[in-house]
Amino acid sequence: METAVTSVVTEVYEIPTDQPEADGTLTWDSTTLVMVRVTAGGVEGLGWTYAGAGCQSVIEDKLSGCVEGKDPMDVVGLNEAMARACRNLGRPGLVACAISAVDTALWDLKARLLGVSLAKLFGQVSTAVPIYGSGGFTSYDDATTRAQVETWVGAWNLPRIKIKIGQSWGSDSARDLQRVALTRDCAGPEVELYVDANGAYTRKQAIRLGRTMVDDYGVSWFEEPVSSDDLDGLAEVRAQCRSDVAAGEYGYHLAYFARMLAAGAVDCLQIDVTRCGGYTDWLRVAALAQAHGLEVSGHCAPNLHAHVAGSVPNLRHLEYFHDHHRIEQLFFEGALDPSGGYLVPDVDRPGHGLSLRTTDAVRYRRR
Ligand SMILES: [Mg+2]
Repeated sequence: METAVTSVVTEVYEIPTDQPEADGTLTWDSTTLVMVRVTAGGVEGLGWTYAGAGCQSVIEDKLSGCVEGKDPMDVVGLNEAMARACRNLGRPGLVACAISAVDTALWDLKARLLGVSLAKLFGQVSTAVPIYGSGGFTSYDDATTRAQVETWVGAWNLPRIKIKIGQSWGSDSARDLQRVALTRDCAGPEVELYVDANGAYTRKQAIRLGRTMVDDYGVSWFEEPVSSDDLDGLAEVRAQCRSDVAAGEYGYHLAYFARMLAAGAVDCLQIDVTRCGGYTDWLRVAALAQAHGLEVSGHCAPNLHAHVAGSVPNLRHLEYFHDHHRIEQLFFEGALDPSGGYLVPDVDRPGHGLSLRTTDAVRYRRR
């Protein structure tokens, strides 16, 4: 082995949202980012997860020891070692997020040591990765929704956008429909309109609303109409509504995605590289979906997804999420431009092409 991993350093950042935000089943006013820096041969790889500060303890207590002193070329082996080391902690949740942050940092490190972009290391199927604008929080007033849609469609030329519905656990479906109507009105007739209920509705409620949203407003993507743990319910909504049904953002291991596919629960499988186990597992999940004849969509963290997403033939798009747009443009030199509805990874920059703007990020550092 010529070069071994010499250090694994974690940092926790907490970034306030630009105003209080809510979807169907959660409210929040900040985002926690756990950053991982891995070093070998004087080269640093950078990865992260949007999760909780507890990831730092998992990495320091369990994962660092699996990686330090090892060959950074063997990322898949290191991913497996981390997964095995956490058996008794339980993988879903913070553990999988912690593994994801280290895995993405290791892949970035490997690419930088080889002097190639991640896009070229994984191998490109497409050079430009389609995205959709995502935000449209249930907490927004109409003026805020209008302004955001104007940015997405007017300023950035995005051909597809998504808003949150299911306000207050599905208790105000009249306002949900009013906001869908408003968004369609602002976006115009040509833009693909998506909705995300974050599991707020009951099955029959979701079917009733889904039919109205398709017929009256042309909604073509209905994300988590019911809880993503209700696989039969997702399949039922899928059978009863003409819009595509999507889920998968809470997938923390391969078997979860296999069960979702086996149940016929989705038309498009969402995978989050900051949760599923990093690039190593993202690629496995994409292959699993391909074997089922389905496309995949990258969930959030658009700049971390861009290179890997372009390396699979069954990619539909990436979610260009409002909160992560703000954070990634602020934190990372090399963050990609969403204009035109595509992210185009820069294959002339090594790794994922991102470097931390330390002076901008430091004021959000918590640990
Ligand atoms: Mg979602």
